Amino acid sequence: MRGPITELIARKRDGGTLDRDQLAALIDPEVPDYQLSAFLMAALLRGLDEGETRGLLEAMIASGERVSWPWPVADKHSTGGVGDSTTLVLAPLVAACGVLVAKMSGRSLAHTGGTLDKLEAIPGMRVSLSLAGMRRQIEQVGVAVCGQTPQLAPADGRLYALRDATATVASLPLIAASVMSKKVAAGASRLLLDVKVGEGALLREAESGAELAELMVTLGRDHGIDTVALLSNMAEPLGAAVGNALEVAEAVDTLRGEGPPDITELALREAVALVGDEAAVRRALDSGAAFERFQRWVAAQGGDPEARLPRAPIVAAVPAPRSGVVQRCHARAVGELVMRMGAGRTDKDGQVDHAVGVLVHRKRGDRVQAGEPLATLHARHQPDVGAMAACFEIADQPAEPEPLMLGQIGA
Ligand code: URA
Repeated sequence: MRGPITELIARKRDGGTLDRDQLAALIDPEVPDYQLSAFLMAALLRGLDEGETRGLLEAMIASGERVSWPWPVADKHSTGGVGDSTTLVLAPLVAACGVLVAKMSGRSLAHTGGTLDKLEAIPGMRVSLSLAGMRRQIEQVGVAVCGQTPQLAPADGRLYALRDATATVASLPLIAASVMSKKVAAGASRLLLDVKVGEGALLREAESGAELAELMVTLGRDHGIDTVALLSNMAEPLGAAVGNALEVAEAVDTLRGEGPPDITELALREAVALVGDEAAVRRALDSGAAFERFQRWVAAQGGDPEARLPRAPIVAAVPAPRSGVVQRCHARAVGELVMRMGAGRTDKDGQVDHAVGVLVHRKRGDRVQAGEPLATLHARHQPDVGAMAACFEIADQPAEPEPLMLGQIGA
């Protein structure tokens, strides 16, 4: 017999619209995974209009508590990138400037990495924090980063994992509701959104990035959050490292002033947008204050900032198949390969391998001789060197660098 949940799924499947109560019924914890997954696929294929997106967002926020901090707190969220360890640099950098950071992050999603998985590559690091623990940590260290909990945005925790396992990630309304439910629940007063644009982003089309940014800025402001979105280029991996432990090491290098130019630029731009004082941000990075804050933050969440990060047993160079100029290192292909190597999940409760990944040595505009390494794979099993080489496009003509920052939405 068809039940009410089946009727709601069928309504979306047939292109109808759902109201807030109906969306709340669909994401109720009693609804089994198979029905929620069917709804997610219907929503991905049919879309949700703005009213439905708002309804879903409200239902997701109401699935847990909404924190109200006694002080203004800043938050940041990326819509998902390849090699994007910026949060690990940005959060302590902003805190070192005296702006409190309370952030709820996510795990790997489709071909993109997740901040929580990166943090868990640090031995001992906990990302499940109680509200009381989060508050204590913000008071003592100025920064706390956690995942969805039974208290905070639990519906997003469930939907997020199901979307990853059911190919229902690349939906503008589902991304907007997922991101903003975490931000509203975690009590942000100021929010910086890093909306990725380009083939490595969750939504490939350039216009989708701007549309997503506009929608999330509007939703943030409607919830009383001072929200700004920066659009950033995700055509190539950010920095050199893609993979959890490798990205943590790269974030530490960046905090020591020795990081790749693109991650450094992105972290500085985002920090200035949150702190509002460029000189203070530069000082916090150059003086080592941000790095020191990172160490205190990691220790406060049980991590050992001095511990050796996990290392993969096999390290293999990826030689260039020809001489020429790199036209592109395709971010999406690299992200997919690293996920296949074990850095992401194949099912919703799967484990990630923190050690595996790739270091990219050449990017757009770089010259390379045949046989020189384009990248180095860090693998658990015999790596697919050919698949990594195929992520690069090499030709004879020069290639101009592309801008990293592509625009801003909101003041
Ligand atoms: N980040 C999120 O938190 N949710 C998404 O759906 C995509 C990126």
